[in-house]
Amino acid sequence: MIADKMVGFVKNSSVIRAMFEEGNRLAKIYGKENVYDFSLGNPNVPAPKEVEDAIREILAEEESTFVHGYMSNAGYEDVREQIAEHLNRLHGTNFKADNLLMTVGAAGGLNVILKTLINPGDEVIAFAPFFGEYRSYVGNYDGVLVVVPPDTETFQPNLEAFADLITAKTKAVIVNTPNNPTGVVYSEAVIRKMAAIMEEKEKEFGTSIYLISDEPYRELAYDGVEVPYLTKYYHNAIVGYSYSKSLSLPGERIGYLVMPDELDDAEDIQSAANVANRILGFVNAPSLIQRAVAKCLDAKTDVGYYDRNRKLLYESLTEMGYTCIKPEGAFYLWVKSPVPDESEFCAEAKKHNILIVPGSSFAGPGYVRIAYCVAYETIENALPGFAKVAEHYGLK
Ligand code: PLP
Repeated sequence: MIADKMVGFVKNSSVIRAMFEEGNRLAKIYGKENVYDFSLGNPNVPAPKEVEDAIREILAEEESTFVHGYMSNAGYEDVREQIAEHLNRLHGTNFKADNLLMTVGAAGGLNVILKTLINPGDEVIAFAPFFGEYRSYVGNYDGVLVVVPPDTETFQPNLEAFADLITAKTKAVIVNTPNNPTGVVYSEAVIRKMAAIMEEKEKEFGTSIYLISDEPYRELAYDGVEVPYLTKYYHNAIVGYSYSKSLSLPGERIGYLVMPDELDDAEDIQSAANVANRILGFVNAPSLIQRAVAKCLDAKTDVGYYDRNRKLLYESLTEMGYTCIKPEGAFYLWVKSPVPDESEFCAEAKKHNILIVPGSSFAGPGYVRIAYCVAYETIENALPGFAKVAEHYGLK
């Protein structure tokens, strides 16, 4: 008999899993190239050549006991130092190695920081729509996820509703910009307002409210859009970064947390996060890839590849009559369902072998997410299907 809590988690994860299985089933019938799978955020761009070079170099140069050995739970000190210096150069911050903890991707980082901060019953606020796993991550520590309804005009955070939802029990707020699933980048004006609201509420309740910035898509921003670095706007901001998308390394499981000295109880948080990393069973982030990313700090994924996909998909679907939020970052297009029940729209698209994810998986019913981190040809070949679905709903 599995744990009661797992029963709920298993039930909630079934939509994406069902889609994955459906994709495999359709591929067997129609051939992989005739199935247009836009369901997963798995980068189609290969990792930059620098990553392979770095791995080869490390293996050739260093003793294997060092490369593959245990280390401090926070990760290699020289790696953390190099990343801290890199961040300081980019953002004018003042981080040191001790402000960083290497993590098992963004998912590992989020779990470490939530375990560090959350007592049962503490409230964690997220803005709808959001990466569905937040619900499970907060649930892991018996926190209560409080959801801010969206501003469906812009999908920037709805700050009026946010202010009303902060209580004496609010321990953390999770933001994700560039955003999965909307592709929206939170503007500097919005970040400033959000920080002012949180500071005011901290004073009102006499509490610390931590802002957790989940940033796997930081590097994926288009048209020169700036992605504000949140520790510069709010004293209690913690950053969770990942190389999964920025260097196309999702399977390697590598990222880091930044816990600045300005945080309330900074030292306790930094040392508790180290312990959390260990007792969650991660122990430390994978050693070889830690050393490799430190050698690739200036390497970049091919953002132009995603941008080309973005333009083709956004322009084509808008032209067909779909209502789409123009993505400024990440690699997702957020599309309004032509019918109130978006799962009906997904089912209609599936008749044309197009797999897209219902917005309800992201607490955004009435919309769907299309992941365009696929081959350009996949989008081109899927367009006639999208056009037929548009015709079916009389969009033009
Ligand atoms: N947060 C968001 C918003 C994501 O979209 C993802 C992955 O898609 C993650 C976290 C997890 O990233 P990682 O693979 O680095 O754990």
